[in-house]
Amino acid sequence: MDVVSDVAEIRARLQGVPRPLGLVPTMGALHGGHLSLVDAATRHCATVAVSIFVNPLQFGPGEDFQRYPRSLDADLQELDAAGAHVVFTPDAASFTPPGRLTSVVVASLTQRLEGSSRPGHFDGVTTVVTKLFNVIRPDQAYFGEKDFQQLAVIRRMVADLDLPVTVVGCPIVRDPDGLALSSRNAYLSGEQRVAALQLSQALHRVSQEWAGDAATAVATLRRTLSQASGVRLDYAEVIDPETLEPFEGVVEGPAQAVVAAYVGDTRLIDNIRLEPAGSSPAA
Ligand code: AMP
Repeated sequence: MDVVSDVAEIRARLQGVPRPLGLVPTMGALHGGHLSLVDAATRHCATVAVSIFVNPLQFGPGEDFQRYPRSLDADLQELDAAGAHVVFTPDAASFTPPGRLTSVVVASLTQRLEGSSRPGHFDGVTTVVTKLFNVIRPDQAYFGEKDFQQLAVIRRMVADLDLPVTVVGCPIVRDPDGLALSSRNAYLSGEQRVAALQLSQALHRVSQEWAGDAATAVATLRRTLSQASGVRLDYAEVIDPETLEPFEGVVEGPAQAVVAAYVGDTRLIDNIRLEPAGSSPAA
C-alpha cells in the first residue's frame, strides 16, 4: 500500500491503475464505519484509494478542528490490512491554502439541519470532496449514511455538476449496544457514552412505533431527547430522504428520522430509516 501526500505524485501513481477505481474519503481516526466503506470498495473496485484529511474548511470557529483525533500510524495499518492500495494524505497548507478563492456550494439542501447549526460546514465538505474527485478521478466514491445530509448533498452536487463518479451510500455501523460509530466517540467519558446511547435508543423506538405520522414521531423524539439526562438536543426531525424537507403530517413513502445532540461538549448525529407503514423493513 502506498501513502502519498503530494497531488502530482498521487496523480502519477493512479495513472493507468486497474479500474474501477474506488475512493473512500475520510478524516482519519478510523473505526469500523470507515472500514465498512473500504470493504465495500474492495468488493466492487479493482483499485481502492482512501483519503485521510482533517479538512479545516468544514470546521467552524470554536469547533474541534485542533483537537480532532488523529491516529495516522494506526489508520495506515488498518487500511493495509483492509486491502486499500493507495492512501492520499494531503497537507492542509497546500491542499486548502489560505489564498484559495474558489468554493463549491450546494444551495438549499445545505441550509437546514447540520447546515443551520454549522454555517459553512457543507461548503467546506463539497469544496474538498470536489478537489478529491479531481485529483483521484474515482469511478465510485463511498460515503456513509451516518452523515445522512452529507450523502444527500454530495449526490446532488455530483448530479448537478455531471461529475463522472458514482456515489455509493453505505449503511451505518453501530456498536453492539446501538451507538453509531464515530471518531468523536473518542471524546466521550464512560458516563457520557452511556448518555449518548439515548440517541440511537430514541431513534430505534420511533422506527419500531412508526405508523406514518411524522408529527407523533417528531414529538416522541423531541420529548425523549429533551428529557434525556446528559443530552442537550440540537434538532430532531423526520425528513424526506431526498429533499431533506421536514415532514409534518402523514407520510406515505420512506422517511428518515435525524437527530443531533450534544453530550458534554461533543456533538453527535444519528439517523434511522422509517419504512413506509405496512412494508417490511429492508433486510
Ligand atoms: P469522517 O472521517 O467522519 O469524515 O467519515 C468518513 C466517512 O465515513 C463518511 O462518509 C462517513 O459517513 C462514514 N462513516 C462515519 N461513521 C460511520 C458509521 N458509523 N457507519 C458508516 N459510515 C460511517
